[in-house]
Amino acid sequence: MELKAGLSAIVTGGASGIGKALCLALAQKGIFVTVADLSEKGKEVAFLIEKENAKLPSELQVPSAIFVKCDVTNANDLAAAFKKHLEVYGGLDICINNAGIATPLVFHKDTTDGSGTWKRTINVNLTAVVDCTRIAIEIMRSRKMPGVIINMGSASGLYPMYADPIYSGTKGGVVLFTRALAPLKREGIRVNVLCPEFVQSEMAMMINRKVIDSVGGFLSMEEVVNGALELIKDESKAGACLWITKRRGMEYWPSKSEERKYLLNQYKSRRSQYTTSDIIVPDNFKKIIVHTLDHNFRSATRVVQTHLKLPIKPENALVKIIFAGVNASDVNFSSGRYFGGNNNETTARLPFDAGFEAVGIIAAVGDSVHRKVGTPVAFMTFGGYAEFSVIPAKHLLPVPRPDAEVVAMLTSGLTASIALEKAGQMEYGKAVLVTAAAGGTGQFAVQLAKLAGNKVVATCGGAEKASLLRSLGADRVIDYKKENIKDVLKKEYPKGIDIIYESVGGEMFNICLNALAVYGRFIVIGMISQYQGNNGWQPLKYPGLCEKLLAKSQTVAGFFLIHYAHLWQEHLDKLFDLYSTGKLKVAVDPKRFNGLDSVADAVEHLHSGKSFGKVVVCVDPQFSKTMAKL
Ligand code: NAP
Repeated sequence: MELKAGLSAIVTGGASGIGKALCLALAQKGIFVTVADLSEKGKEVAFLIEKENAKLPSELQVPSAIFVKCDVTNANDLAAAFKKHLEVYGGLDICINNAGIATPLVFHKDTTDGSGTWKRTINVNLTAVVDCTRIAIEIMRSRKMPGVIINMGSASGLYPMYADPIYSGTKGGVVLFTRALAPLKREGIRVNVLCPEFVQSEMAMMINRKVIDSVGGFLSMEEVVNGALELIKDESKAGACLWITKRRGMEYWPSKSEERKYLLNQYKSRRSQYTTSDIIVPDNFKKIIVHTLDHNFRSATRVVQTHLKLPIKPENALVKIIFAGVNASDVNFSSGRYFGGNNNETTARLPFDAGFEAVGIIAAVGDSVHRKVGTPVAFMTFGGYAEFSVIPAKHLLPVPRPDAEVVAMLTSGLTASIALEKAGQMEYGKAVLVTAAAGGTGQFAVQLAKLAGNKVVATCGGAEKASLLRSLGADRVIDYKKENIKDVLKKEYPKGIDIIYESVGGEMFNICLNALAVYGRFIVIGMISQYQGNNGWQPLKYPGLCEKLLAKSQTVAGFFLIHYAHLWQEHLDKLFDLYSTGKLKVAVDPKRFNGLDSVADAVEHLHSGKSFGKVVVCVDPQFSKTMAKL
């Protein structure tokens, strides 16, 4: 969310310490603030903010800050504070649940009933945070506007603070409560938690100086404020926990590798297990090689028998392939384009193995590989069009099942998922256009853009594809065989499209570029319309491109999946998760291609324009039938 004048925020515990600093920082951006606090000192903060906002243009000078006396543990006070905020500012963009207290007595030595001591700490630090979050969600949801909720955690919610176990426990609760709210992002509501170590505030003065020194000293208020502002601004952060220390600065917790430890456990339980008795390691197997460079896949390739060299090298695994994915770029690969085009250097590589991706099961492993035979895996190294493949184990991607839907999630799904996030910097509430939308990768782009809360326009050629796209949730489907894409975009999207996921190229590139909005981002995924033809792929010229981009502050971003290998496993897990929870559908082309001899037919089917969804080849139909019974 861009921090700009005219937004409004409510900050609990805004009268002093971090809360006060946050109120002032927001006010500096011209944001209207409700300071909600039990202490009358909140009035002074509101006064300071008034002074700050007096610098704004007169038309924006509504009451720029108000103070509402509020005990966050009192439901009536809370309801009144939010009501007042809405009455004055008409909406709520940011809610910072910051009020927090330490426990005045060691709870196990406390002879009271705890209502004024440790139970109050729980009520202020945890119960009230839940309550404020609940009210803020209700308001943001009803207004159908994006909103950000920041809960104030603490480093003591990430590791134990022995001096105050109740405080530590409440902050730990806030952390996991917030992280579990990540899915609200789909409604445009991002809830994040900030976990600073010790900040020089009244509360921290009660802590032993030696403890403060042992963590490198106090954090400055500025460091904490910057953390909160980052969590508000960064649209990719939802359910995020930002830990700030003097020693290492800002870092998100848990790290991806820590996260994988528990995600993998969930994953394992859903993962099919295969017995090894059916897997026969052969002396020879079939694979497809490129023997001559040609964009005509059939002419460039042939199926050959190859000898399996045993033993498997220590760091490698032998994968029995069950499904291989077919890609538009198979024809670019067979023409040598991936190795720099048709030149002497590329010719010297011949013959080379074809196919970009496959799923299967591990059939054998080298001595230093700690993966079990029978484990389902995917890979995206060259050589996917084969019955078996020997692959460095580090390139294997564990998957729950080696089936057609999972192979679709590889190149096609990952391209959509990573490109929209990285190259498209996709946010909520934008107009997103996807071309060749009913194809392998297009179908994922449509759904992911929709899941993120965008309006999706999808292009395709044919009624059957159009109905698939409607079933995937596209808001506007343009079947170019019936309607003119240029006219529709001009008429129905006069302000332009914010993000374009374009994979057709040629004239489609021009039409889409002309429909791009001011600040729009255009992701170049590919140019399928140019890959074939008599001379193969001839690069096109786009006259006036610089001028167009400059005139509208637009960005054209290229995307090539190979450059994002470090994100494959993370995004694959995400896609499978969405798929297995029913949020993502995977369309596999209904035409069956069985065995390696059918690969050239499958590649031609993809380029015929008649395919829809992901085109896959079942490399071993017998084995896939056995699997289906398991
Ligand atoms: P796909 O979308 O399944 O390709 C088939 C669809 O493309 C067809 O149904 C047709 O859709 C359209 N099409 C086919 N031939 C065409 C032609 N000559 N002119 C215009 N449209 C044609 O294939 P895919 O494998 O998923 O690849 C789609 C695009 O994404 C390709 O450009 C590919 O290179 C690119 N890609 C890029 C990356 C990367 O890392 N950058 C990764 C994967 C894919 P409609 O007629 O319905 O429009």
